[in-house]
Amino acid sequence: MKKIIQDLSYAELETLILSLGEKKFRAKQLYEGLMQGKAISQISSLSKAFKERLCEEYEDLPVAIKETYRSADGTEKYLFEYADGNLVEGVLMKYKYGFTQCVSTQVGCRMGCKFCASTLNGLIRNLTAGEILCQILIVNALHKKDVLGQGKEARAVTNVVLMGSGEPLDNYDEVLRFLQNVTADGGVCISARNISLSTCGIVPKMYRLADEGIPLNLTVSLHATDDVSRARTMPVAKAYKIEEILKACEYYFKKTGRRYYFEYTLIEGENCDETHAKALIELLKGKPCHVNLIRLNEVKERDLKALADKDAYRFLGMLEKGGLSATLRRQIGVDIGGACGQLRASYLEENDK
Ligand code: SAH
Repeated sequence: MKKIIQDLSYAELETLILSLGEKKFRAKQLYEGLMQGKAISQISSLSKAFKERLCEEYEDLPVAIKETYRSADGTEKYLFEYADGNLVEGVLMKYKYGFTQCVSTQVGCRMGCKFCASTLNGLIRNLTAGEILCQILIVNALHKKDVLGQGKEARAVTNVVLMGSGEPLDNYDEVLRFLQNVTADGGVCISARNISLSTCGIVPKMYRLADEGIPLNLTVSLHATDDVSRARTMPVAKAYKIEEILKACEYYFKKTGRRYYFEYTLIEGENCDETHAKALIELLKGKPCHVNLIRLNEVKERDLKALADKDAYRFLGMLEKGGLSATLRRQIGVDIGGACGQLRASYLEENDK
């Protein structure tokens, strides 16, 4: 596989350009083109010969949108295809204040959560920083024209959530590089405060992330109130205890001043009766955190059931009464199907891959 030019920061692009005997200002032209989601060969300010030289070593454009699914509520889901044929999915949610894109950080996942489709065939490979960034660059390019009343620099994607397939902290170095590049001035320049990173709770990496001092929103997938039940649906619970996760979250708060979030997927008969609500309140009461309750997207390969809507609201009510800050996440794009990994899994199945 060729190298990925979108892995490079602006400073690194400059070094590359100079090493190829080109003038420094070419780096700016190249960077601007790349950040607009263009393939190297499409950047009109650069000479054909120079572009061809770059393309001998680097992918022209590492990712393409293979399929787009549009929901009646405006949500879009994409199946992205990388140069080696690997597929990941992404979602674009349209809100009044801007567009939130959900990106994938790995092809597949090795965390093994029972409710999740991304993990059905394990981890295929990590994505590089540039491959992750390209998901945003090409979606941004696609939608830039939708952002009315703004000039050339208009951004369609204003918020990013790392909640697609993969465990971001299991691909730490590339994800960190992605975070640095996506927030850099002059690029797509998305504020760290508008980025949420969701982890199943890899404790040592949570500390490392806190020490990087990036003020993003840290979200932990909790899904249970004690370690034994958590291990039933999340094998990672055998490695890290809830107590350790909570300590790492506190550290994150101390370091960044940012409150943290928990995701709690409601699985019928598993984690959402009154005793669980009480236990959750006991665990989190008084902490600078917010709980996002998620409706389970039933994965056909797994035998887990979603909680009825009225019971989900009842569970939310109990948490609120107990003093927790909590919301039940609005369900969007239901008609285009699927949580993390479901799109890719069904595509692979249909196409018998
Ligand atoms: N690996 C990261 C990102 C995963 S996806 C993590 O574990 O946090 C983002 C969220 O969706 C996680 O909370 C994950 O547990 C949840 N999720 C995965 N599959 C789901 C499903 N079928 N229904 C509802 N939520 C799901």
